[in-house]
Amino acid sequence: MALETLRLILKYSPQILSFALQLITQRIRAIIHNKTYISTENPKHVLIIGGSFAGIQLAKRLAETLPTGYKVILIEKNSHFNYTFNFPRYSVVRGRQERAFIPYDGLGRGNPVGVFEQIRGTVVKIREDEVVLEDRRIIGYEFLAVATGVTQAPPAKLLACEKTGACGELKALQDRIFESNTIAIVGAGAVGVQLACDIKTFYPDKVVTLIHSRKKLLTSFGRKLHDYVFGKLGELGIEVLLGERPSLTANGDWKAEDLTFQNGSKRLFDLIIPCTGQSPNSSLLASFSPSSISFENGQILVKPTLQIITDSKLDSESCLTNIFALGDVADTGGAKMARAGMMQAQVVCSNIIASISGGKMKAYNPSPLEGSLKLSLGKDNGVGYLQDSDGTEILVPLKGGKVDFEVGNAWWHLGAKYDEKNF
Ligand SMILES: Cc1cc2nc3c(=O)[nH]c(=O)nc-3n(C[C@H](O)[C@H](O)[C@H](O)COP(=O)(O)OP(=O)(O)OC[C@H]3O[C@@H](n4cnc5c(N)ncnc54)[C@H](O)[C@@H]3O)c2cc1C
Repeated sequence: MALETLRLILKYSPQILSFALQLITQRIRAIIHNKTYISTENPKHVLIIGGSFAGIQLAKRLAETLPTGYKVILIEKNSHFNYTFNFPRYSVVRGRQERAFIPYDGLGRGNPVGVFEQIRGTVVKIREDEVVLEDRRIIGYEFLAVATGVTQAPPAKLLACEKTGACGELKALQDRIFESNTIAIVGAGAVGVQLACDIKTFYPDKVVTLIHSRKKLLTSFGRKLHDYVFGKLGELGIEVLLGERPSLTANGDWKAEDLTFQNGSKRLFDLIIPCTGQSPNSSLLASFSPSSISFENGQILVKPTLQIITDSKLDSESCLTNIFALGDVADTGGAKMARAGMMQAQVVCSNIIASISGGKMKAYNPSPLEGSLKLSLGKDNGVGYLQDSDGTEILVPLKGGKVDFEVGNAWWHLGAKYDEKNF
């Protein structure tokens, strides 16, 4: 175990060091850019659709690198950045949910005047050189990046685009959890596991059942993580049912319902919380470039340069040369994690700059580090986990962190002021 850990530390140290050096270089270049970028009257647009982890990181990088004559425009439908990492916790713990909604108005602070703009709106159509918003505004682009992520049922993602409505959804679930005695969580991915552990540790008297269709918890990770988490769930007194796929009629109204199991038995739960499935928000390409959407998983097909693949033969390599996709919506081969989307943003930024200046394009090479996990297992425990490309798993038991985890860092990352007094 210790040897494996040491081997992985040695293996990934150069990668971490090189990334740290890259960040320092980027900071220095950003300072120079700040002094040399000149705002012009009709700059060409680099549009980003989607202002979450991937889109924000791309906007930040472009705002400190685009040459004079270009500006970045970020289009996002939500009133606030949704810090989804804390949604499971704020579905259980009452009165803290506002912290998960971060204002966007700090973005672009510190960047040269005219290089960054944010637009609140929903893109409904992509055309060859412009996008159309729901309110019929039309915005032209020279380059476009699609970072529209995935849709998941609440509480993993919320339905409302306004902060007040989104907080209301979390509050409604807090109330239902508070008043329910028997609670079933269907789906034991990271969100389901986290939610089950939070309910059981903040409300130890409730009967919590975690149901999963596969025989292994956290299906996309390795066996060691399953074994560890399975043990912890047992210690907490959470009932785990594996290999069960009860049909769900629950539709987010959090009502009491019967679940039917494989052997025909039925059980009534006061509350059922589905934590299953996600669908990529790729439909914007359905009429513009239908062949760019994967039949297998609905994600947007991309080349290693993260340019969108098409078979419409717009160029010899069958890709849309000025349109990129990144983050959870894109079929990149990388982990479906925020860190991966942020690394992809570095590649897309480099490739847009290379396209403008005639430089060489970069390829995205997913690293196992991007798929590493810090999973909370209730208020007192957690686990750090990394699976190497050869399957080796490293697992580090962790103590439970702060009740709000690292939400303050996310505020800082978006240039917003996190002040406990405001909540
Ligand atoms: C509960 C939960 C906990 C998680 N915990 C972790 C964690 O601890 N660590 C980690 O690395 N990852 C974690 N993840 C995964 C991580 O959140 C995702 O990988 C990440 O959010 C993907 O970022 P994204 O920018 O690609 O897409 P998304 O976060 O899905 O965002 C897409 C954005 O695009 C916007 N959008 C979509 N369509 C349009 C449109 N037509 N017009 C305008 N805007 C649009 C949406 O409003 C949204 O803001 C967690 C996920 C969940 C659900």
